[in-house]
Amino acid sequence: MKRVYLVALSLGSLALMLSGCSLWGFSGPYRAPWRHEAEAQCLASGRLKVTAAITPLPERDGERDCGADHPFKVQAVSNGMVDLSMPALLNCPMTVAMDDWLEKVVQPNAASYIGQPVVKLKLLGSYTCRHIAGVSSMSEHAYMNAIDVGGFVFADGREVLVARDWNGADPIYRQFLRSVGGESCTVFNTVLGPDYNSDHHDHFHLDMAARLKTHHRVCKGGQLYDGPMAYGLPTFTGSVTERNEDDDD
Ligand SMILES: [Zn+2]
Repeated sequence: MKRVYLVALSLGSLALMLSGCSLWGFSGPYRAPWRHEAEAQCLASGRLKVTAAITPLPERDGERDCGADHPFKVQAVSNGMVDLSMPALLNCPMTVAMDDWLEKVVQPNAASYIGQPVVKLKLLGSYTCRHIAGVSSMSEHAYMNAIDVGGFVFADGREVLVARDWNGADPIYRQFLRSVGGESCTVFNTVLGPDYNSDHHDHFHLDMAARLKTHHRVCKGGQLYDGPMAYGLPTFTGSVTERNEDDDD
C-alpha cells in the first residue's frame, strides 16, 4: 500500500513537471505537496491521540484533488470531553488544532464569560469537495483542513450560537463570541466570522491553510488580539507549492 502510494505520488510529480500546472497525476488526484507533508509531520509528532471518538480512516480521494491521505472521523475532542454535534472528517493537523483551540481559547473564555465549561460544539460542516464561494480555488474544506463551528453548548445546558448571539441581546454572549473569534488565530491560520462577510453570519470558519511565502494568518473572527501568535504549521522541509495568498476560506 505504501509502495503504491509512493509510485502514485512520483507519477503525480512527473505529470506535474510535464504539464507544468496540471492538478492531476496519471493515477488519481494530485494534492499539493505541503498537504502530504503537513499530515505526515502531524502524525509523526505523536500529538494526535486516537480515542474511542477519533477513528482513523483509509485515504480518501474525492473528485478533483479533494480528500486527505489520513482522514479521521472525529466525534468528540478534548480527550472525549467535548462532543461534536455531528461527526467531522478532519486531517491530523485540524484534529490536533481542535484540541489546542478548546484548551487555549474556548475553555478559558468559557470560564471567564460564562462560568461553565463547553461540553459540545455545534458544527455546520467539515469535509466538502467544493470551491470557495465565488472563487475558482478549492476550499480548505475540500482537504479536511477546515471546520465550521456554529455554536457552543455549556455544561449547564446553555447555548451560545453565532447566528443568534453575535448581535444578540446578551452582551456577555456577544463578548464571548468576539473574544473566542479573535483569539482563534492563536491556533488556526484562517479564522472567518460574521464580521468578514454574510456567508459567515452563522459560524466561525477555522482552517489550517498554509501560506508558505508569507506565513501570514487571516484573522477575521472577532476582536483584535495582540497577544503571541505562532504560525500553526510545522516547518516544511521538502519542496512545497504555494496556495493563492488571497484565498481566504
Ligand atoms: Zn468553512
